[in-house]
Amino acid sequence: MTEQEKAERFAKSAPPLRDGELEAINALFPTYIFRRSCTEEIWTTCCHEHTTVGIEDMRVTTPERNFLAVMWEPHQREPRNRWCEPAKPHVECPFCGKPAIVKELRYTGKRENLSSYRRAVVLRWYRGALWARAYDCGKHYTAGYDLAGDPTYKLVGVYRFRPGLAEATTRSWYGNSPFGHIEKQDGPLTKGRWNIHAPFSANADYGIGYDVIGLDEIQESPFRYCCAADFKLSGSRLLEFLTACCFYPRQIEMLMKAGMKDVVTDLVDRGVKHATVIDWDDPKKAFKLNRQDMKTFLGTNRDIRILELHKRLKSRIPLTQCAEWISRGIDIQRTVRAAKKWNIPLEKLIRYLDGYVGCAQYGGMSSLSSALRFWEDYLTAAEAMGYLLHRENVLLPRNLGAAHDEATKKHQAKLERERAAQRREWERQQQAERAERERQARLAEEKYEERRKKLEKKYGFAMDGYVIRAPLGKDEILAEARKLQHCVGGHADRHILGQTTILFMRKVKKPDEPWLTIEMNGNKLVQIHGFKNEGLHTTKGRFAPDPREVYREFLDTWLDWMEKGSRRDKKGNPKLPKKKGAAA
Ligand SMILES: [Zn+2]
Repeated sequence: MTEQEKAERFAKSAPPLRDGELEAINALFPTYIFRRSCTEEIWTTCCHEHTTVGIEDMRVTTPERNFLAVMWEPHQREPRNRWCEPAKPHVECPFCGKPAIVKELRYTGKRENLSSYRRAVVLRWYRGALWARAYDCGKHYTAGYDLAGDPTYKLVGVYRFRPGLAEATTRSWYGNSPFGHIEKQDGPLTKGRWNIHAPFSANADYGIGYDVIGLDEIQESPFRYCCAADFKLSGSRLLEFLTACCFYPRQIEMLMKAGMKDVVTDLVDRGVKHATVIDWDDPKKAFKLNRQDMKTFLGTNRDIRILELHKRLKSRIPLTQCAEWISRGIDIQRTVRAAKKWNIPLEKLIRYLDGYVGCAQYGGMSSLSSALRFWEDYLTAAEAMGYLLHRENVLLPRNLGAAHDEATKKHQAKLERERAAQRREWERQQQAERAERERQARLAEEKYEERRKKLEKKYGFAMDGYVIRAPLGKDEILAEARKLQHCVGGHADRHILGQTTILFMRKVKKPDEPWLTIEMNGNKLVQIHGFKNEGLHTTKGRFAPDPREVYREFLDTWLDWMEKGSRRDKKGNPKLPKKKGAAA
């Protein structure tokens, strides 16, 4: 037999739903009374009645059979969305007395909005085992459904609980998938969580919780003393709870009866066993306590941490004292860690810290855990300041408040000094870098004169009252940029270093007045711009004409001359080709 066949067979062996159980499922849904006033018909969804209300019925106005109220009750609308208040029942069903919502049929449209879904887990003691069957249930009132009919239901999970064995099979949520395989929990929980879980919900929108039907069936089972009814069912952990009951019935009984439901919840929900204080293997000595201690413990608020602390303190401290420390907010794990780290007996540390809890002078110590943080704060500072923490009077100072404030103050000051030193060092570095940059620039400028001469030789040019020359230095480029309000200033350093070439075009009569600025790449003119780059480009175009166009003849002649090798006469003036039509 395949896994799937085994699972199907297991599911089939579960007891089928019986009438009472189906009615209990029906009762999970809202109760409607549908009414057709014109024919005086009513349908009840609670008790499946469909009848025509006669004159005789109308006269009956006892609370049990109040037809008149049903006929007079106005139609109740459904809330517009799920955040609105749900409709509330205003009348009682004249047949069974259940509070009901009246719906006048002609106002209900197709009634799709009345469809609702529930997940129900139905328990039954059957053939020597406690069975749980999970159903996805729905009620629908659209065309094709009986207004007074039963809910629809689909089996989505089957569980069988016996001492020492819990089994389950579930369908996955999509489509009509079959039961896949049987999950088993056949031994006590050793690590991790239980193998048995509630089935995945197809209607996650409606919450994955479920309603439990047949809780009293547990009374027939071996788990009758486990107080399942007292276990918090709203968390929908009943299936896991029953799984735990298969293995630890006596312990669960004892814990539930001792009012220690949270310990059971830890076991059921998270697989947490509090094994240091609870013996899950031998129910006879479950708490690992003697009779007298057990009596004392039952006299406290029965917080499991009291036992844990007691255990941590090697059972030497009375339980009442442990309970006192728990009530004063001790963080057991953290305190144990700190005691171990600083090599102090746990009891000594707790007593030391306890001496400061509620200390008016130091408001930060309102509980044992905040006192611990306060002390650890002191240690952080003391360690950084090189205090001799191996000495007990330094590790556990007589006046923790004062010692804390002094140490943290010193530590703060030290940190401040370190930060200031870091800042100074950073500033020094910045300054050094700046100086180095300036030195490089100066060096470049010193060497620039040589470069300028070369540029002058290659590019220097004069004709028709215009002159082109190289800048004298960085300052001149900056002055040019300032005067013309364009961006050449940003290129000054690059020009000096030879990474780009900037030239000035001037009028011969005003050789020192900035006018047009040129950027060259070898023999190629990259750009030429004057005041404000001829006005910024706007949607209407430039404000001033492009100098490359206006001085095209001059510039082309210059570029042409340069292309041919920048030839000059003996005086250094450029040699130009004869102009066409010029006098010889
Ligand atoms: Zn009814």
